[in-house]
Amino acid sequence: MKAILPFSHQLLKEIVSEGDTVIDATCGNGNDTLFLSKLVGEKGKVYGFDIQEAAIENTRKRMETNHQRNVVLIQDGHEAIDKYIRTDEKIAGAIFNLGYLPRGDHSIVTKPASTIKAIDLITDSLKIGGRIVLVVYHGHDGGAEERNHLLAYCQNLDQNFYQVLQYQFINQKNHPPFILSLEKIKEVTVH
Ligand code: SAM
Repeated sequence: MKAILPFSHQLLKEIVSEGDTVIDATCGNGNDTLFLSKLVGEKGKVYGFDIQEAAIENTRKRMETNHQRNVVLIQDGHEAIDKYIRTDEKIAGAIFNLGYLPRGDHSIVTKPASTIKAIDLITDSLKIGGRIVLVVYHGHDGGAEERNHLLAYCQNLDQNFYQVLQYQFINQKNHPPFILSLEKIKEVTVH
């Protein structure tokens, strides 16, 4: 179970460079935010979203302790990303760690409609070669529903524009989390 998170970071490390703008769509305790903040460096920018005040506060403290000053924290749903990020601001990568906050309120979970709306919005401003990495937990109440919606959504993305890979453990019991990685390979043109 633990090994999935370093792998999600590896997928972002491969495509994010210093100076890039990236998104942590679910800050929680700020693990991914800190990772992204170090990855893009002083000239880069991280937008971090979470609906929970406690998550935003924990992440803010974590950034302060680590002297990271390139993070903009927003207490709002990631489905409202377009209120905060201009569409011409190109995004190199984004991460969603779905489900509930460990050691937090387990009744606050990510939901399929808002997760998919956020992915849709981010894909519009994703760079060519940029990736959205989703860590999907599906053992909790509502988790299977979110997983099914996400898989259906990803399976329907046009292969001419997006390359989607699923990475999963096949020898772990009890609903092991898995990763979906969406990479934009060509700009979507509207005729
Ligand atoms: N990445 C985090 C970390 O490093 O600690 C863990 C994230 S936790 C699995 C999921 C988080 O998603 C929770 O903190 C929860 O409050 C948040 N969340 C749920 N719905 C959300 C939404 N619509 N927009 C943004 N965050 C949301």
